[in-house]
Amino acid sequence: MNPKDPLKKVLYIDLTKRKYWVEEREDLFVKYLGGVGVGIKLLEENCPVDIDPFSPENPIILAIGPLNGLFPLASKTVALFKSPHTGNLGESHAGGRSGLALRMAGYGAIVIKGKSSRPCYVAIHSNKVFFRDASTLWGLKAGVSAARLIRAKEPGAGLRTIIRIGPAGEKLITYSSVTLETYRHFGRLGLGAIFGSKNLKAIVISGQRDFPVSDFKTYKEVYTELIKEITESPKMKKYHELGTPANVLPLSLVKGLPIKNLTTNELEKVEEISGENLAEKYLARRVACTHCPVACIHLAAIREPYEDEPYFYKTTYVSYDYELIYALGSMLGISDSYKVLKLIQTVEDYGLDAISTGVILAWCTEAFEKKIITEVNTAGLIPKWGEAEVYIEMIKKIVEAPNEFYKDLCRGLHFVVEKYGGKEFALIFGKNEMAGYHTGIAGYAGFLLGARHSHLDNAGYSLDQSCWKNQLSVEEIAERLLKEELWRQILSSLVVCFFAREIYRIDKVLKCLNIAGYNLNEEKLWDMAEKIYTSKYEFKIKSGFDMENLAIPNRIFELPTFTGHIKPEALQNLLKVLKEKIKNLLETQTRQPLL
Ligand code: SF4
Repeated sequence: MNPKDPLKKVLYIDLTKRKYWVEEREDLFVKYLGGVGVGIKLLEENCPVDIDPFSPENPIILAIGPLNGLFPLASKTVALFKSPHTGNLGESHAGGRSGLALRMAGYGAIVIKGKSSRPCYVAIHSNKVFFRDASTLWGLKAGVSAARLIRAKEPGAGLRTIIRIGPAGEKLITYSSVTLETYRHFGRLGLGAIFGSKNLKAIVISGQRDFPVSDFKTYKEVYTELIKEITESPKMKKYHELGTPANVLPLSLVKGLPIKNLTTNELEKVEEISGENLAEKYLARRVACTHCPVACIHLAAIREPYEDEPYFYKTTYVSYDYELIYALGSMLGISDSYKVLKLIQTVEDYGLDAISTGVILAWCTEAFEKKIITEVNTAGLIPKWGEAEVYIEMIKKIVEAPNEFYKDLCRGLHFVVEKYGGKEFALIFGKNEMAGYHTGIAGYAGFLLGARHSHLDNAGYSLDQSCWKNQLSVEEIAERLLKEELWRQILSSLVVCFFAREIYRIDKVLKCLNIAGYNLNEEKLWDMAEKIYTSKYEFKIKSGFDMENLAIPNRIFELPTFTGHIKPEALQNLLKVLKEKIKNLLETQTRQPLL
């Protein structure tokens, strides 16, 4: 790396002692690039594997990489922590202004440890860190309310990021999220609850530092090539025009869109919640993460009259994505786009992960139908497919936790089914609620064995769709899943938005890294990818993940996909081969030093 690059600086913050210091960790950034690569090493150093996730010792690690700030779509920040939801590796990515703000503040990573004795927020302005009282912000919504007050007080407008939680995080709900710049999130695996456990309402980061490039002429050439490819790519055009909701109709046509807890392949009026319909009826504007010409973030405008003045309207903006439409729409049998937007707005206000919330509510609906739970549990509410108003009330109750059942829901579906039953239709994989793809064995193997049980680990759902066209053997599927997950370790270390994965191919990445001062070749890059992946997996296993005891909900075998029913033995075969490959990699990597 370029020796003058401030990326090597790691800012440590101790909330208990209200102290901070900086360490130069060139060793980590040279060997593991940044982002998830450096993040996992900092997690190993700072997080004892056996601690309770809510212990003050559990660190929050935010990390960026050498391409942040230099190249388009290298716009993300990675968060690593021990997840309160799964009990093992917590990894979440978010964009907004966070990547650039951290870069311009002059750091490659931040490690936050300890616990504040009272609600606080931390303001990082270049080399100064301030611990501010947040008592008056505690309880405020994650979306706009808390940020509005912080914005008025802190400098750095336009360049800063405001990373904050809502009431769900304060109440330690294990699937609470963290919001940035109102429309972006560290959504999955409960980072919001880790903020809450530390009495940390928000982190503000700003700065105006410069950072070096080794050869400005080549930088300009590579940058221009990238911008041309990004702005001319049809794939990127799709993200800009309709965004990820463009997938609603195609997935519903191929039976891949989960509907009503995977009890059916049909949702009446599904076209109402399509990207096309939402754009036509509600799209108000598109926004982008910093340094991204794509602008895939779609904001719907909801116009509602004030209760006491019927002809006086307030307009609120709600960002919508495929996953949110799936979890709070089709999964709950809702095909009214306005109702889906209202549900999205509700989880946004409270600061909950939309995917987990939707899957939990879908389980509640079926469990209620099957009389596993009753009105005594739901405090009088009757969950029913399509009834958005009831689901909104249930979300409020999850956050208020008025009785034992709602308190249990705060701990995730895996906890609930252990106590109440209904495991066979609880759509959880590795304790994490499923993303919106009922596509086949690659998707489910990806959920089960991906390092964070996310569709983003290895995009198995996408592989399922190519398998329909070209029959792949189990060996080939396992090989491709693993290779994709390995390559994503590099993208997550740089930290490039996954939507640009077809632009940032290996040749481009090497060129960009060269400009950032890294002299690497393909072999070294794959070796880094393996080291990062196995470090993550080792942390997972040491903190309790057991790949020999994977729980698979029977429901996924009951509803056909586009190619028919998934056969349990086909999935088991794939899991067997994939596990062998992961184990081999773990064994080889523990024997080999980094090239
Ligand atoms: S494509 Fe979308 S998510 Fe990715 S960096 Fe651009 S605006 Fe952000």
